[in-house]
Amino acid sequence: MPEPIQRTAARFAACAALAGLLLLIAAWPAPAQQATEPQLFSQSATATLERNFPSPDLSYMLLDASGNVLAERWPTPPKIAQQALSPGSLVKPFLAIAYGEQHGGRFPTVRCLGTESRCWLPRGHGNLGLEEAITQSCNAYFLELAAGLDRQRAAQTFARYGLAGPPITSSAESLAGLGSAWKETPLAWARAYLQLVNEQQSPTQSRIVKGMLGSAEHGTARAVDAALGRNAALAKTGTAVCSHTPHGAADGFTVVLYPAAQPRLLLMARVHGVTGAESAKVAGAMLRSLGAGER
Ligand SMILES: [Zn+2]
Repeated sequence: MPEPIQRTAARFAACAALAGLLLLIAAWPAPAQQATEPQLFSQSATATLERNFPSPDLSYMLLDASGNVLAERWPTPPKIAQQALSPGSLVKPFLAIAYGEQHGGRFPTVRCLGTESRCWLPRGHGNLGLEEAITQSCNAYFLELAAGLDRQRAAQTFARYGLAGPPITSSAESLAGLGSAWKETPLAWARAYLQLVNEQQSPTQSRIVKGMLGSAEHGTARAVDAALGRNAALAKTGTAVCSHTPHGAADGFTVVLYPAAQPRLLLMARVHGVTGAESAKVAGAMLRSLGAGER
């Protein structure tokens, strides 16, 4: 039942604009003070998110730039193997890094014809380079990257990001985030994104980060900048096969890093029953509720 969350998100956006709310981000301390104050921020963030986003259809994890968990509500089954999940297109940046390492940092331009290219956008994305393919989460682009990948070497790349990677024999579709063969724990996905952004002085990672800036601005995660302001955040969405019982049409995932220029927070949200693009509305509203995007 996605409606209650969206109502909550809309109500929240209005409230946040009115009240200026908690200014928690503004209160987030400068680096020298962080050793003493993160606990306070963590408690406030936990309380704010619990109060404003109580829907059981929402799971989330809020991390600081060092990968510490500040707030979370993510139902965790007892066995670690059961905690692993496939977040759809959230895998695409890591596929791109592996491809770049195997192809001297050169990426193709791909022509997406839509349905016949097995892309989610029926009319197709036309000609795309890496940045726009990340922004639009184009399946055709990443299926082409996956087809040209040495799996053994890719596994080494994924391991550097703390990711197990998909089974070595899995399909190109799995590498591109279609299907559900590539599973990692939510915390592993979140920390892999932090590492990627920390490496943005490297050419490939820099291009991916540009794509994530574009995603929040005009791509699949554009609801994030709509909530937080232009160029406020880096983001990536994923639409995955629903893992809940009873099954929904999909599970929507959004990863947001805020602020864009030097992220201090990473939010990973999963919303049951909606697309990744819809889940970006909730993620934007959550960060807004923590004071992000206020001027
Ligand atoms: Zn496409």
